[in-house]
Amino acid sequence: MSWKIGGAGVAGSYLFGRMKASGFDVEIYDPKRPNFYIPCGFATNRNSIDPYLKKLSISFDEIAEVDTGRIWISGNNFEKTEFLQNGLSTINKMKMELLMRGGMPYQRGMINDRNSVILDCTGISRAYLGKVQSDQTMFAIEKVCKSSPYDGFYFNFFRRGRGYFWSFPLGDRYHIGAGGVDLGEVRSYLAQFNGTSILSRKIRMAPTIGEIISGNVIGIGESIGYISPLLGEGIVPAIENAEKFFNIVSSTEDIHEISIKYTDSVMKRMQNFKLISTLVSNIQSGKTLTAGNIMAARHAMKELKNFGIKPDYLKILRHFL
Ligand SMILES: Cc1cc2nc3c(=O)[nH]c(=O)nc-3n(C[C@H](O)[C@H](O)[C@H](O)COP(=O)(O)OP(=O)(O)OC[C@H]3O[C@@H](n4cnc5c(N)ncnc54)[C@H](O)[C@@H]3O)c2cc1C
Repeated sequence: MSWKIGGAGVAGSYLFGRMKASGFDVEIYDPKRPNFYIPCGFATNRNSIDPYLKKLSISFDEIAEVDTGRIWISGNNFEKTEFLQNGLSTINKMKMELLMRGGMPYQRGMINDRNSVILDCTGISRAYLGKVQSDQTMFAIEKVCKSSPYDGFYFNFFRRGRGYFWSFPLGDRYHIGAGGVDLGEVRSYLAQFNGTSILSRKIRMAPTIGEIISGNVIGIGESIGYISPLLGEGIVPAIENAEKFFNIVSSTEDIHEISIKYTDSVMKRMQNFKLISTLVSNIQSGKTLTAGNIMAARHAMKELKNFGIKPDYLKILRHFL
C-alpha cells in the first residue's frame, strides 16, 4: 500500500521518519517554504519528548535551545510566583522536524493523488479532512524578540480562563506571545513588545471527536485536536498520536481494521482533552463550582505536569475558582 502524508510539521515529520525507517512506501508533502517559521512557542517537556526522539536516533541535545529554566506564573488572583520544574525546555522545532525526516526534504505542494491513503497532519488547516462545524479555536500571536523583561519561562493567565501570555527563552531570542478568545485582548498584551517578526494563527482548543477519519483520509495531531486545551501544548501530543498510528499500521495494512484500532487508541486521551476543554469553556462563562469541573481539574493538573511544570494546586485553583 502507498501512503501519502500531508503536512511536514511535528506529527507528519515524526510519522514519515518512523514509516520510512520501517520500509513503508511513504511520501510527505507540504506547501511551506523550507524553514518557514510557523508560530509556536517551541516549549516542550524534555523528559516526555526524549523517548520518542530516541526511536529516531535523535538526542535531545541536538535540538535543545534552552534545557530547562526557572518557571514563573502569575494570574488573576495571584502574584508572579515561581513554580517547580518538571522538564520544561525549548527546542529548535524546524531542526527537529528535519532530523525526524532523516534529513530528507518534503515535496513542496499539495497531494493530488486521491486514491492513496492520505494522512492529514496539516494541523489547524485540516486541508484534507475538511472543516468541522463545531470547531473550537483561539487566536494566537507570537513575536520573535531579541530580549524579554522576564527571565526563564513566564506565563500570565488572563481573567476567567480567557487565554494566557507567555515569554519563553531560546538560545539567542525569545518567543513572546499570547493566545485567547478575544483578539483585542491578545493584541493588548503584546503591544509593548517589538518583534523581529510577528506571527499569528489560530490554535485548536477541542478534540474533533467523530471527525478523525473521512473516507481514505486519516487525521493525526492538531488536525484532530490532539492537543492539550489548557495550555495549547501540542508538540508531544502530536508525536504521541503519530506513534499510536505507527504502531497500528505496523500490525495491519487493512484500512478498515486500521480505522477501528486507531479510533480506539486515541479515544481515551481525546475524551480527557474534551473534559478539560469543557472546563475552560465553563470557567469562561462563569460556571466554576460544578461537579464536572472538579473532575476535569484533576486532568488539567496532569496536563501542567506533562508540559513540564510541577503544579501548585492551591494557587491554580484560587486563580480559576
Ligand atoms: C502561537 C502558538 C504557540 C504554540 N506554542 C506551543 C508550545 O510552546 N509548545 C507546544 O507543545 N505546542 C505549542 N503550540 C501548539 C503546537 O505548535 C501544535 O499543536 C503542534 O505543532 C501540532 O503539530 P502538528 O504536526 O499536528 O501540526 P503543525 O506542527 O502545525 O504542522 C502542520 C503542517 O501542515 C502544513 N500544512 C498546512 N496546510 C497544508 C496543506 N494544504 N498541505 C500540506 N501541508 C500543509 C503546515 O505547513 C505545517 O508544516 C503552539 C501553537 C501556537 C499557534
